Amino acid sequence: MRPIVVPFFISHLGCPNRCVFCDQEKIAGAKGALPGAEEMAAKISAYRLSSPGREVEVAFYGGTFTSLPREDQASLLGALQPLLAAGSVRSLRLSTRPDAVGAETVAFLQTMKVGTVELGVQSMDEEVLRLSRRGHTAADAERAVRALRQAGIRVGVQLMPGLPGDSAERALASLDRVLALAPSFLRIYPTLVISGTALAESYRAGSYAPQRLGEAVDLCGSMLLAAMRCGVPVVRLGLQPTAELETPGVLLAGPYHPAFGQLVESELFYRLMSQMAAGLAWGSRVSFVAPAGRVSDLVGQGRRNLARLAESCGVTVTRVREDPSLARSRIELEWSEGHKAADLLDLPQVQAL
Ligand code: SF4
Repeated sequence: MRPIVVPFFISHLGCPNRCVFCDQEKIAGAKGALPGAEEMAAKISAYRLSSPGREVEVAFYGGTFTSLPREDQASLLGALQPLLAAGSVRSLRLSTRPDAVGAETVAFLQTMKVGTVELGVQSMDEEVLRLSRRGHTAADAERAVRALRQAGIRVGVQLMPGLPGDSAERALASLDRVLALAPSFLRIYPTLVISGTALAESYRAGSYAPQRLGEAVDLCGSMLLAAMRCGVPVVRLGLQPTAELETPGVLLAGPYHPAFGQLVESELFYRLMSQMAAGLAWGSRVSFVAPAGRVSDLVGQGRRNLARLAESCGVTVTRVREDPSLARSRIELEWSEGHKAADLLDLPQVQAL
């Protein structure tokens, strides 16, 4: 069972500058303030009560934790040490920027038993980083990932396709450079235009055009396949829907969908299903077998994948059933004269998508 995450949002605290796309308060719906020891203990206790038996991970999100004054970092992480020692908290996680992870910081995080650091890398393309006013380089990201990994700290990398100056080719090249560093996991957030940001001004002025939803789905599908091929889990695709993000006037443009990750995975399954059904006689009646929990990914939102299969391959899908013994990326096709299996990893190389 995965640990329950107790999140503390420190929106923009520690950030040395404001990146063009970012407004953490609107994205996460939380104002930036450092929690006190009592507040943290009370929230952890409430989470433990609501999910008895589950291990607890405490996470600091939404700012640049390792650029906070060191005494603030020590105070926050220090307050959690007794809970770690007692076993009421199993692990600590925080998010930060690549240029805020020097050798001394890594040693400090080790001392404080931080298990996971999430790095906002966003892109490995220098022009994209410059146009997004990130204030760090791709080399900073490489140094940070290597230093954290050498210290035995898990590293999650966040990427944002669709930033100013980005393209599908640049996003995939960024991903390749990140995958070469063997991060522990990835989060992929297609760029959205949030009101009040510099990107919103560029969008209004016509100098920035966000990706269309279909473009982002295709690109993120390619990115997901590339990560799968390297054995790096993608733990999140698309921003978490929040009431703040969905408040009218907050999200101005961009490839937002509340179930973006499912759109991406569903699209990959559609491609695999159509590849499997391509040779069958027009009018065939078939059924598919899905891994545990993935029937809806095969069927698609609004049964869209089944309708597309009927249109493109002429097959009628009479049933999609679940087989928990199937690997998560594997599916089977059954029809009156046969049976075959295939895997998402059988799909063409990323460039072909
Ligand atoms: S993207 Fe990260 S570093 Fe940039 S403003 Fe937002 S929280 Fe701060």
